[in-house]
Formats: sequence, structure tokens, C-alpha cells
Amino acid sequence: MSENIQTAAFFALVLVFEVLERVRPAREVDRWKDLKIDVFSFALAIAMNRLSNYTVTGFVNATAPAWMLGGWHALQGLPGGVRIVMAIFLVDFMIYWIHRAQHRFDPLWRTHAWHHSIEQLYWFSGFRTSFLHSFIYNIPQAAVPMLVFNLSPLEAGLGYSIGILIQFWEHTNIDVNIGPLKYLIITPAYHRVHHSTAHSRTNFGTTFSLWDRLFGTYHDPALVPATAPLGLGEPYDKKRMARMLVGV
Ligand SMILES: [Zn+2]
Ligand SMILES: [Zn+2]
Repeated sequence: MSENIQTAAFFALVLVFEVLERVRPAREVDRWKDLKIDVFSFALAIAMNRLSNYTVTGFVNATAPAWMLGGWHALQGLPGGVRIVMAIFLVDFMIYWIHRAQHRFDPLWRTHAWHHSIEQLYWFSGFRTSFLHSFIYNIPQAAVPMLVFNLSPLEAGLGYSIGILIQFWEHTNIDVNIGPLKYLIITPAYHRVHHSTAHSRTNFGTTFSLWDRLFGTYHDPALVPATAPLGLGEPYDKKRMARMLVGV
């Protein structure tokens, strides 16, 4: 059931963002240039997501003590909607630090470099993540909703769909102004700063802009020219592509 919701949500989002990118593009993008690579990478990411989800879920079920699996008592009584929002918040905080560590430590950077090889951002390109990258991010994404917030598979599916929405949204090529909401959530322009060659050590946040502002890594998108080059600063070595895809 929850997998059907995820699939339906996914295709609805493809349609919405495809249209919005045609109506209000932020930059000129050649969608055909890296399409083959991105389709391949996307298929890998999906396979990895499924695989790690089952692995993490199985591992947690097998090893976590019963009191933990049952959720914390104070949290357990909260309505499903509140628990979903709290789970998103906590997972986002954890991923902020994982992401920062990926830019700090070389073995972790290897899991993330493939994502930064993107030179043209549009909704599909954002799914370019290495095998290990998907696995690492799936650990908090799968474990927190279940362990801490005791979400049902349906609620977790909903939370997961919101996560997919954000991944789409932040990588879209839309010129959009969301008003004061930009102080709360990340915009495509905000995340484009992180993908720029010159400022990749800023704007690590994935969902909320709070963490970057709080921990001193915020860079105002208005200060970065719209033509700032994206990517690693040099074309990736094609001979290393297999390793980059795996993330080692
Ligand atoms: Zn990054
Ligand atoms: Zn990205």
C-alpha cells in the first residue's frame, strides 16, 4: 500500500515539476547531455533505497530492544501528523551533519562526489547519488521513523513521499520566490549555491534552512551570480566513473 502511494506521488511530482521548469526556468539546461548517465544512476538509487530500507528495517527489528521499538512513551501518544513532522525534523538534523561530514572527511567525500559531478541542475539530475550515499542516508531515514516515532508503514510512507518531494524540489530548475517561507525551508536557489563550484562548503541543509543559519554555514543565494558554474570544477574522470557510482 505505502509503495503504491510512493509511486503515485513520484509520478505526480514529475508532472508538476516538469511543467514548472518549462514555465519558469532559472537557467538554460540541456536535458539530453547527461540523460543516459542519470537514468542509470537513478535506477541504482531506487534499487539501493529499497535494499537498504529492508536491511535497516530488518536489522532494527532484530536488534533493537522492545522498549525502543515501541517508541518513546511521551511521543507515542502524539497524533500521527505531529510524529511525521517531528521525524522529518530529526532526520533532517542528522542528515545535515552527515552531509557536512561528507564534505570534511575523504572516505565520506567519495560517497558524495558523484552527486557533486552534476553540472546542470534540474529535477531529474538531483537523483544522481552513489550507491553508498543512498545507503548512508537511508539509515536515519528508515531507522528514526520506526525506532523513535513508532510510525506505521503508511505514515512512514507518507514521510518518505515528503522526503522525495524535497529531493525533487531542491534540485529543480525553477525561478521561484516563496516569500518569508524561504526562512524556513530550502529553495532551489539555496541548494544551487551548494552545488556551485565555489561555495560547495556552504548550504548543507536538505529540508530546513535552520541548521545552516544555526551552525554558521549559511550563504545567501542572492550573493551568488545566476551564472556561477556548478559541479566539481573539472569534468570527472570517466575511468573512475564506476567507483564514483559505488562511492569508493
Ligand atoms: Zn554536498
Ligand atoms: Zn544536491
